[in-house]
Amino acid sequence: MAERHLVKIDRIETFLIPPRWLFCRVETDEGLIGWGEPVVEGRAEVVRSAVDVLAEYLIGEDPLRIEQHWQVLTKGGFYRGGPVLSSAVAGLDQALWDIAGQAYGAPVHALLGGPVRDRVRIYSWIGGDEPGEVADAAAAQVAAGMTAIKMNASGRLTAIPTSAEVADVVRRVATAREVLGEDRDIAVDFHGRASAAAARRILPELAPLRPLFVEEPVVPEQSHRLPDIVTASPVPIATGERLFGRHEFLAPLQAGVAVVQPDLSHAGGISEVRRIATMAETFGAVLAPHCPLGPISLAASLQVAFATPNFLIQEQSIGIHYHEGSDLLDYLVDPEPFRFVDGHLRRPEAPGLGISIDEAAVRAAARAGHTWRNPVWRHDDGSFAEW
Ligand SMILES: [Mg+2]
Repeated sequence: MAERHLVKIDRIETFLIPPRWLFCRVETDEGLIGWGEPVVEGRAEVVRSAVDVLAEYLIGEDPLRIEQHWQVLTKGGFYRGGPVLSSAVAGLDQALWDIAGQAYGAPVHALLGGPVRDRVRIYSWIGGDEPGEVADAAAAQVAAGMTAIKMNASGRLTAIPTSAEVADVVRRVATAREVLGEDRDIAVDFHGRASAAAARRILPELAPLRPLFVEEPVVPEQSHRLPDIVTASPVPIATGERLFGRHEFLAPLQAGVAVVQPDLSHAGGISEVRRIATMAETFGAVLAPHCPLGPISLAASLQVAFATPNFLIQEQSIGIHYHEGSDLLDYLVDPEPFRFVDGHLRRPEAPGLGISIDEAAVRAAARAGHTWRNPVWRHDDGSFAEW
């Protein structure tokens, strides 16, 4: 029997590109090219360094041994976990799945066991930091055909919210509900700005507006308060954009969260998010991947969404306000895979991640680079406030 010629990873490059992204490009000695998006928003340069270190191991390896590489990349350095390492691994994992799809001539969802749905429901984010924006932004998404939106519940929030703050949160969501009517859905994101006490006070008041779910009521370091919040809330609780592996999802699932939101560019990539979804399934929880990032992260999310039975809805950020001066479609040869119809995206059939990256556009954009940082908020008295 002829021995299979072993394909080898030959070159790994990274590109720091506007608005706030980092792409990686993995090339094999036979010319297969896989793309990934390893980034922590606001810390892209740090993740780039992590990718450079991990690349030392990957060069010369067989790209098709994805699981073996995932094990070594996440555990082989003795110290493990955290946003930087997990995001670096995530981007490389996406690129290896992209290569595998091309090597086998199949979309990634086919390699994950085949599609379980024909289209994926998506939602758009409408802001909400400023209450005046809500109605117009919601109306724009209705006009665009969206069946669901997500909004921030508040601006800065004090640990024990005042009566005015509680009323303001309810008013914002009520404004959106009025515009969206009963046939569309609203998800409400607290961005970790609330405390458990605040969540227990506010969520029952939001319940009559029937949000699809309420996201990140507290920061991840207060996840041990999730059981109290779930008990007090008639609204399903979602969390997970700042959790980095399946072990970190166990406690929230045991607390009773209804929706897990791992980010394909943070939580170990396609390999690990697939496992997180499976773990969630045993709790009757559903997957709604976090994705405010770029085209590769979204493409990877969709591949998982199409192959995952307990999938709910996909975030995407085409036209989001962070992307001033450049957009998710700018780096694609063909934007068609991301053209939504009736608030849904259709199943990609192209091999790998199902998109074609415009390499010339990426290389040109990388010459400008970026130094994106999130804002740092303060309360009125000058103390730090969660953003
Ligand atoms: Mg969020």
